Amino acid sequence: MKTVLKNGRILDPSQDIDLIGSLVIEHDQVVEYGKKVDERGAVEVYDCTNLWITPGLVDPHVHLREPGEEHRETIVSGTQSAAAGGFTTICCMPNTNPALDTPSLIDFIMDKAASPEAGGVFVAPVGALTVGNDGTRLTDLAALKKAGIVAASDEEHPIQDSAVMTRAMETCLQFDIPIMAHCDDTSLSAGASMNEGAYSAMLGLKGMPRSAEEIMVMRNCLLSLHTGCQLHIMRVSTWGAVEMIRQAKYLGAPVTCEICPHHFSLTEEAIGEFNPLFKTTPPLRTSLDVDMLIEGLRDGTIDCIASDHSPYANYEVQVPFEEAPFGMVGLESVVGVTLTNLTHKGVLSPLETIRKLSSAPAQILRLEAGSLKPGETPVAQVCVIDPEVTWQFDVTKTFSKGKNSPFQGMPLKGKVVLTICGNEIYRDARFDARRLAGVG
Ligand SMILES: [Zn+2]
Repeated sequence: MKTVLKNGRILDPSQDIDLIGSLVIEHDQVVEYGKKVDERGAVEVYDCTNLWITPGLVDPHVHLREPGEEHRETIVSGTQSAAAGGFTTICCMPNTNPALDTPSLIDFIMDKAASPEAGGVFVAPVGALTVGNDGTRLTDLAALKKAGIVAASDEEHPIQDSAVMTRAMETCLQFDIPIMAHCDDTSLSAGASMNEGAYSAMLGLKGMPRSAEEIMVMRNCLLSLHTGCQLHIMRVSTWGAVEMIRQAKYLGAPVTCEICPHHFSLTEEAIGEFNPLFKTTPPLRTSLDVDMLIEGLRDGTIDCIASDHSPYANYEVQVPFEEAPFGMVGLESVVGVTLTNLTHKGVLSPLETIRKLSSAPAQILRLEAGSLKPGETPVAQVCVIDPEVTWQFDVTKTFSKGKNSPFQGMPLKGKVVLTICGNEIYRDARFDARRLAGVG
């Protein structure tokens, strides 16, 4: 079957392409794109006038919750949510129950993700760095790599012992596995529920000092510099962390990092009267942090954007602030929030926006994704975005089982209207009128 996406703005950061033209998909593959393409025999033509045609988006940091926490999310609901968010490749985190610490669990994830009920996106599993995420005994990383992990992570149980982290880096270097690190010195942050400062004092809550994040960012950067192990720092939130990563890159450490939309969009003041939807780790910080994080996005210190999609059941979230879990769902709001707060404010160009949402995370984790180049990906991975449409995010209408979002009801500008991964896996209702019959 031949499909043509017609007259859109084709943005492919992997090739620095930004042009108005059409893209042709045939036999599940991108076969051609440009100002003039061969439309003969097309069965389906989508009018993409004033829309962006981009590589399928890539989310390096998603919690699918399966196995063990299916009341929060499943591989099926999570991948459907990813498709609706424009993602065609996502990395799933190992802090499930049990943790993803054996090859058979990696097989389980891959099988489930490939099942016909699932959302049709590629799921790249991230393995546990330590057995049961206990922070002490390393997993069999060679076996996990053979089973298909693309990285290893300590996720929500950050490795505190520097000797263990050194061994982890030496081992991962040997097997060529990137480490994705949650950076948190838990001796400083334990028992805290928001950013430490005047605001936490006013609310009478224990605060997480910024140094809890920065000490571990610095330690992990230094270990990466000295071992040579590829390190990806997850969810930076303070200006100091960005500055340390800038220094580490300057020194030549193989370090990259990601940021979550809530950390460049919201400050601690959003918590208001103890609203648990705004409880995250690392916590929402200050407007100075947001300004410096945006500078880091602009100058490239921050490589990519990740949702840290963390679904919870309603009954788990609707509790007093101090008892509430950390995190929020994100897959279906990333594009709207990013375009509204970065692209439309002139922080990132459209091409740089898509780089941070697709090509950059694909390159960092060496995924076959993030490019429109024919043959670069196993099947065509394409996302179509309406950058100008204004809409209100409504979490009750999302595919994710989790409904914990601080962006509920927020007016956004920019929305995913079509996702293709081999074939169409998501189409927004407002895009229907643009779907035309074949031109014969
Ligand atoms: Zn996470």
